[in-house]
This record gives sequence, C-alpha cells and structure tokens, in this order.
Amino acid sequence: MSEAFDIAIVGAGPVGAGLALALDGAGYRVAVIEAAPPSSETGSTFDARSLALAWASRQVLATTDPALWAEIEAGAAPIHRIHVSDRGRPGFARLDRDDEQVPALGYVVENRLLGRALHAALDRSGVTLFCPARVTAVDRSPRRARVLAEGPEGRVDLTASLLVAADGGNSAVREGAGIGTHRVEYGQTAIIANVAPALDPGTTAWERFTETGPLALLPLTEGRCSLVWTCRQGEEEELLGLDDAAFLQRLETRFGGRLGGFTAVGERHAYPLGLQYAERFTARRLAVIGNAAHVLHPVAGQGYNLGLRDAAVLAEVLADARRAGRDPGDETLLTDYARRRRADYARTTAFTDGLVRTFSNAVAPVAALRAAGLVALDRLPPARHALARQAMGLGGPVPRLARGLAP
Ligand SMILES: Cc1cc2nc3c(=O)[nH]c(=O)nc-3n(C[C@H](O)[C@H](O)[C@H](O)COP(=O)(O)OP(=O)(O)OC[C@H]3O[C@@H](n4cnc5c(N)ncnc54)[C@H](O)[C@@H]3O)c2cc1C
Repeated sequence: MSEAFDIAIVGAGPVGAGLALALDGAGYRVAVIEAAPPSSETGSTFDARSLALAWASRQVLATTDPALWAEIEAGAAPIHRIHVSDRGRPGFARLDRDDEQVPALGYVVENRLLGRALHAALDRSGVTLFCPARVTAVDRSPRRARVLAEGPEGRVDLTASLLVAADGGNSAVREGAGIGTHRVEYGQTAIIANVAPALDPGTTAWERFTETGPLALLPLTEGRCSLVWTCRQGEEEELLGLDDAAFLQRLETRFGGRLGGFTAVGERHAYPLGLQYAERFTARRLAVIGNAAHVLHPVAGQGYNLGLRDAAVLAEVLADARRAGRDPGDETLLTDYARRRRADYARTTAFTDGLVRTFSNAVAPVAALRAAGLVALDRLPPARHALARQAMGLGGPVPRLARGLAP
C-alpha cells in the first residue's frame, strides 16, 4: 500500500528543505525524500562550501521559522559592504548596507551549518522526512504522482497530488519527465576553500575580477574568509596540487594586498562552472525548482537565493490553493507558478551571465570601458542602488515570505 500525501518533494537540499518548511502549517500533508544522510560530508550539498544568503533569503528563512534563522545567524557572518574591483585597473565600486537601510546586505553561512539547521527544523516540523532514501522510480498519472524510493530502512512507496523536483542540477525527476536542459559552458572552474587573511575581513565581501575569471572572498566567522576562485578550465589541477604556502602566495598575487596577505588555507575543492536551465519548470503534476530548474555561475552568489525564491513563490501559490480548496497539482495552478517565476529567472540569469562575460573579457577596449564603468557606478547612487537591490534578492516582485508575511 502506498502512503498518501498532498505534496512530495524529492531532495532536501537547501531549496527542497526550504519549500517543505515554508509549507509546514499550510494544511498539507508534505513528504520529503532525501538520499544523503544529514551528517554526510560527501555526495551532499552540505559540503565544505559556504553560501552567501541575500537579504531577501534571510527574510524568507526568518519568517518561515524564527528558530531556524536564529541557529543560522549564530554561525553566520553579516555582509555590510561589497567591494568590487578589477585586477590591474584603477577604480572600484562599493555597495553599503547604510545606503540600502538594512541591517546587512546578506550573510555568509557554511553549508554544513545550514544543512544541520535545516534538518533540525525539519525534525521539529510536521513534515514527513524519508532520509536516507533515494528515489528510484516516479510515475505521474493525470490524478496523482507515485514515488518509489530505497533506503537502509527499506522501501518507500508514496503517492502525492503534486511532485516537486528539488533534486539538484542532475535532476533524475526532471529528466524522467522528459524536460530537457540548455547548457552554456564558460570554460571556467571554481576552486573553493576557507582561507585566513592576515587582517580581519570584518564585514566586507570582496569581488575581484581577473583575466581568468572572478575571485570572491566572503567574510566568515573567526576572521576567516570563504574563497571562490574562478580559474580557466584545466588550470585547477595545478592550483589544487600546489602546497599551501605556494597556493596562498598565488592567491595574494591574484587578489592583491588589501587583506595583508594570507596565513592558512583549508581543504580545496574544484567545481566546473556553467549555466544550465530547464526548458520548462512544470509538467503534469510536477514542479521543478532550485538547481533542478537552473544552475548559475557562483560569481554573484545568486543560485541558492534564486532557488529559495522558487520555493517561496511555490509555497505562496500552494497556500492560496489550499485556502481556495483547490487541488495542489492542478495544471492552471502550475502554469501560474511558472508564469510568476519567468521574470526573476530572466533577470537573475542575465545579471549573472552578464557579469561573467563582461569581467572575463581581456580585450583592451572592453577592459577599459569596464574600469570606467566601475568608477561611474561608485559615483552614481541610483545605479548602485539598482545593483544592490539585485544582489539582495529584491530586484523584482518580492514573495510574501520575504516581506515577513505567511505564504
Ligand atoms: C562553488 C559554488 C559556490 C556557490 N556559492 C553560492 C552562493 O554564495 N550563494 C548562492 O545563492 N548560491 C551559491 N551556489 C549555488 C548553490 O550551491 C546551489 O544553487 C544550491 O545548492 C542549490 O540547492 P538545491 O537544493 O536546488 O540543489 P542541491 O543543493 O543540489 O540539492 C539537491 C538534493 O537532492 C538530493 N537528491 C538528488 N537525487 C535524489 C534522489 N534520486 N532521491 C532523493 N534525493 C535526491 C541530493 O542528495 C541533494 O541533497 C554556489 C555553487 C557553487 C558550485
């Protein structure tokens, strides 16, 4: 016998878990199926990386569950300023929380901490979590979806009116529904690591554009920084193979002396970078969200933030449906969801892709224009404000959860 739910979410990564928690209390029976055990260090989203959470994401998480946000905030570093510069060229631009009148432009949180906090919130919620259990088969009929999963505790067999694919960039649920993807390769790889600069990074996030790609240093707790160093594809072998001292020396050459050099580096990992987006975000009794729908370059720290806005808008559409007594897997409701997400996808993808292309271009006239653009940006408050709003996740219509309201 299958266990019956209203909504089944495949994947309890940061987006799937975010949706499940946002729906808790909306009156639905919600199931989440997650393959990786909560403590897993490999094969899981909650790895050695850190995430920059935009201000809007902070609002979504804090409104969803104040205790969840309190746990995240206790281990997160706030971003009060973002400093953008171009290696080898004069000029820079600064975004500041005071100009935007918010306590922080965003926060940097280690993925492991975020994962622990989300799983603890799921445990105390009314959501049914099957974990670890890997979804092995999905069948979507006109009336319901059926999901089969396998885990150490045995077989999971459930049905739901709506299935949500939150199973990441290689989403098997999306593929199984015949939804193709478009992919653009940047020929770049990100090296990530935590590093200790000689000077305390305080609350400033540094974004430095170099000829091989952008380099970001985000403030972490205990005077550390989270490094995302984009290099040309193929160059990562060498960077990963350097001993710590040589790596830090190379980093200082790339980043410059603003933080007084670097004294230590943790584990280094490489991630190939590209832009990928699904052809459609819905199908019969299916919504595709988070990385399953779109994978972005990490240059502007937008991927998770965009995915959490998918979750916030879908929770809003589903909560409205519940109040109206509608079927949560209804086609018109899913069409409405997809329509409401279109502009945000287009804007955020164009923003991220534009940054990568403009700032990875070494052609002299483009580089000169870019330097002039940064100087102008720093002197033009309306332009700075527009950029800050996009970085804060407030570039378009803001979902209820991000305004402090229930979905
Ligand atoms: C180097 C780097 C830096 C980044 N920095 C930032 C940043 O600063 N800010 C930002 O907003 N974004 C950032 N991102 C993007 C961000 O990491 C992703 O957008 C985010 O993790 C997507 O979350 P998700 O829940 O959609 O997918 P995932 O994190 O991929 O989670 C999918 C989940 O589904 C589970 N799953 C998969 N298949 C199955 C199955 N068959 N059955 C059950 N469960 C399954 C997986 O175990 C996993 O837990 C960065 C990305 C990279 C590569």
